[in-house]
Amino acid sequence: TPAVEARGLEKRYGALAAVRGIDVVLARGEFLAVFGPNGAGKSTLLRMLCGAVVPSRGTVRIAGEEIGGGEDGWRRRIGLLSHQTFLYPGLSAAENLDFYARLYGLADRRARVDEALRGVELWDRRADAARTFSRGMQQRLALARTLLHDPEVVFLDEPYTGLDPHASGLLTGVLERLRDGRRTIVLVTHNLSQGLEQANRVAVQVGGRWVSDEPASAIDPAT
Ligand code: ADP
Ligand code: ADP
Repeated sequence: TPAVEARGLEKRYGALAAVRGIDVVLARGEFLAVFGPNGAGKSTLLRMLCGAVVPSRGTVRIAGEEIGGGEDGWRRRIGLLSHQTFLYPGLSAAENLDFYARLYGLADRRARVDEALRGVELWDRRADAARTFSRGMQQRLALARTLLHDPEVVFLDEPYTGLDPHASGLLTGVLERLRDGRRTIVLVTHNLSQGLEQANRVAVQVGGRWVSDEPASAIDPAT
């Protein structure tokens, strides 16, 4: 069973076709990077893959279970990092994560929060309020929240946006560790220099369609 299996995905907003006929089939452990210019429909595609946007046409299955099919076990299997990930500025890093751990009814909250903080290298800042964090630290805290329930499939929407080179380097390290052969990852970005090293598959999306979809080994970054 593929970790992600989407067939014939389309999304229309009135007269605009944001995504027009994309298939995504990912085996467990794959890391797919989707590149394309702004407005190509990458975000819309990602949001359909994680159930945040309802497709106009097509279906999405997570580990065989159809999104919108009635059951919602798939929700526990996925995590999304988007620009809208909400953090409470007045709460500490640990409190922010604990809040979500409670909200999602996770067992072993303390252990999960600690592990998530360590995973994004924020352990030593766990007691500090989120509002005192740099953009890069906030992004890593948001990623910790995404990973809190140990999702099998992780969706990342432009995770490098607004990060300086140091913060980008830290994030790349975190992504490296996520790529453990077990977890399936989909990253969308307009910047070809991001995620290319981590990905084992690379798709290019233009005007709502995939114009290529290849193993990363086939891509020469120099061209
Ligand atoms: P990308 O992530 O590649 O920049 P998006 O998926 O954000 O592309 O957007 C694709 C197109 O769909 C854009 O023209 C955008 O304006 C439009 N769009 C996205 N979301 C909505 C929405 N909720 N309502 C109307 N149009 C939208
Ligand atoms: P929202 O209020 O964000 O729309 P939903 O009720 O749609 O939340 O559910 C999101 C699902 O994501 C939850 O049912 C849960 O299984 C799963 N989930 C659990 N922990 C997290 C987390 N830390 N971040 C994101 N999703 C999580």
